[in-house]
Amino acid sequence: MNENIIRACDMIKEATNTWVLSGAGISTESGIPDFRSPKVGLWNKIDPMEALSTEVLYNNPKKFYDIGYKLLLGMEDVEPNKGHLALAEMEKLGFIKGIITQNIDGLHQKGGSKNVLEIHGHIRTGRCINCGKVVKLSVLTEKVNKNQIPPKCDKCNGMLRPDVVMFGDNLPEDFNIAWENSKTADLMIVVGSSLTVAPANYLPQMASKVIIINIGETPMDKHADLVIRDKIGNVLTKILDKLKKGE
Ligand code: NAD
Repeated sequence: MNENIIRACDMIKEATNTWVLSGAGISTESGIPDFRSPKVGLWNKIDPMEALSTEVLYNNPKKFYDIGYKLLLGMEDVEPNKGHLALAEMEKLGFIKGIITQNIDGLHQKGGSKNVLEIHGHIRTGRCINCGKVVKLSVLTEKVNKNQIPPKCDKCNGMLRPDVVMFGDNLPEDFNIAWENSKTADLMIVVGSSLTVAPANYLPQMASKVIIINIGETPMDKHADLVIRDKIGNVLTKILDKLKKGE
């Protein structure tokens, strides 16, 4: 473990354009279940392709608001953990340029990170699919709690939906920016992603060097320059401590 930490620090110090790609695994230490960890993962109980799909959202909104939407609400009022905090400090100290996250929970920003690209959207807001009006997610929740399913826009009566990328949705502009940044990255640190969701899993393949910090195996492990199989919070805290000491 220690040797790996030293190697990671050396790679970070050598690099000049380091980006982080984060996935659901960084937020498990805050209490949000990920999708694919064995046994505890949400998806052992629910099929994500269904619960958070455009197919269900548009064709069976009752089912969406009964299952998928509740998963999103479970990510509100959650606090960032030491992994998020370490990354925020690494950005502040200039060791990383920013974070590309597949997460929708907003915990990087809550932890103090500034340059965050949310390639799968977020749970802060929703919008009307007819007129585009943006509202806080709490507006949708209030309407759903009053049994208005699907929730309707106050301006045009169109359907409101969360600003989260569902299976079947196009990706937001943040993904194009992430793509460009990955092309020029000389190092990408992947934290807490199974690297099974495309096209997010193409991004590390574009960076010159890759460090993977993940408990479970990923299909990219054999191509990575360094793989650290340990808990993200511990690993990132150790890396940050060493970098701060100039070691
Ligand atoms: P994933 O669930 O497919 O994989 C998570 C990986 O993290 C696993 O390989 C697991 O071994 C590892 N992991 C879990 N806890 C860890 C820890 N403490 N330390 C080190 N490794 C740990 O996640 P993914 O690749 O991000 O893909 C899932 C999709 O689901 C993404 O698109 C994301 O948008 C969405 N999602 C988001 C959240 C969130 O916002 N917190 C939660 C669940 C799912």
